[in-house]
Amino acid sequence: MTCKETSQLLSQYIDDVLSVPVRISVDEHLDICPVCRAHVAEFRRLSRSLRSLSRPTAPADLASSIADALVIEAAAQRQFPEPAFRERIATWLQPRLMPYSVSSFASVILFVSMFAAFRPHFVALQDAAIQSSTLQAFRASPHYDLNQPVKREDFSAARAPFAAQSPSLDPGGALAALTGSYAHPHGDVYQEADDMVVVADVFSNGSAALADVVQAPRDRRMLADFEVALRQSAAFVPASWDRRPDTMRVVFTVQKVDVRDRSF
Ligand SMILES: [Zn+2]
Repeated sequence: MTCKETSQLLSQYIDDVLSVPVRISVDEHLDICPVCRAHVAEFRRLSRSLRSLSRPTAPADLASSIADALVIEAAAQRQFPEPAFRERIATWLQPRLMPYSVSSFASVILFVSMFAAFRPHFVALQDAAIQSSTLQAFRASPHYDLNQPVKREDFSAARAPFAAQSPSLDPGGALAALTGSYAHPHGDVYQEADDMVVVADVFSNGSAALADVVQAPRDRRMLADFEVALRQSAAFVPASWDRRPDTMRVVFTVQKVDVRDRSF
């Protein structure tokens, strides 16, 4: 047996747990090896000194203090039990919902303050709308509609305050069409600015006849067109609609104004 093999078995040798043949082999080596004999002596000395140490004793109140700690922990668990699933969800949602609720609230405040700031403007707009609608009601008949062609009856009714002295032009008549044609120069004939003043007799059925020319137009065709239009159809609405006299003499001032497109 070598020193290395002997040193690995020394602890068991000292405790006397080796089998007899192995113990004999170790004894044989120890007889011839002073180094291993010194190791054995050292082990035995250590072992003796360890045995002479007193066994540490546990504190007397160790068991009771552990029991007390367990009781306290159990009581704490009963007082603050594990939160229910719903409560845990609420706790989880709270910090996530809060920024949204804060911003929503801020939006409401912003809206209210903006509305308050613009209130004078809204009031002014409303006043303007009321005035505008009052004006419309005054100017037009109850059946007034921008999207519909002007009807003769409506036009006459709208002119009620003045119709007794001034016959209402028939919006569908030839004279109205003639004045409308001034706005649309026909073909190559360039229309110069021109004007004339004529006197006409207006009859109960709305037809009219030229009575006198106070101021002739520079372009004679203007006067000729006027006469043709008067012959073509009734220039005015019937006298009964206007509540005007059956026959009356009126003075026409017809003006053509040259408004070039580029003037706009
Ligand atoms: Zn040895």
